[in-house]
Amino acid sequence: MSETITIALSKGRILQEALPLLARAGIVPEEDPAASRKLVFATSEPGVGLVVIRAADVPTFVENGAADLGIAGKDVLLEYGGQGLYEPLDLGIARCRLMVAGPAQARETWRHLRIATKYVTTTRRYYAARGEQVEIVKLYGSMELAPLVGLADRIVDLVDTGNTLRANGLQPLETVAEISSRLIVNKAAMKMKHQRVKGLIERLAAAVGCY
Ligand code: AMP
Repeated sequence: MSETITIALSKGRILQEALPLLARAGIVPEEDPAASRKLVFATSEPGVGLVVIRAADVPTFVENGAADLGIAGKDVLLEYGGQGLYEPLDLGIARCRLMVAGPAQARETWRHLRIATKYVTTTRRYYAARGEQVEIVKLYGSMELAPLVGLADRIVDLVDTGNTLRANGLQPLETVAEISSRLIVNKAAMKMKHQRVKGLIERLAAAVGCY
């Protein structure tokens, strides 16, 4: 078969949980991407390759056709805005919550709440929907530090066990969204490589236990 398919995914928790799922669908990379510096991997499935990239870049690769399929966290998709993509399958992996968190002892403030997050768009949308005006401080990581050093009153970040929050004197306050990884598909690939893409979606759905 000459038609090739590229699947984009990111290192870390998604890769760890996606590899067993891909294996159940019959797709096994030629070497372990978690232990390699390579970015492109052939797989046991002829014509199917993987690219391993930053989580926030997965939707960009798929929307622009640099990859046909991708595995991305719902947090990333909410922030990216998924108009140019299909999202046919909830893979049920890398589950967590996007949450508002803050110090156990919240300080009273007369000004607008200041929220530190890397999810600027999602956070703005969340507070706008509640009619609350907030000030957003964009950070790229270690959000938990922001309330401790007076940079923000609250944070919006992913929470799994809550251990990271607790270790920094913060507590979960509100759930912004339930998060899991989704299969995303390039719109043109869905048309032009329909049989191949549909077959892969079905095999992944079976691996997830949807069928
Ligand atoms: P925890 O201490 O178990 O609540 O995990 C929180 C930390 O892990 C935060 O730094 C999160 O950004 C990160 N995290 C939790 N769940 C996920 C996930 N599904 N994908 C990526 N990062 C996550």
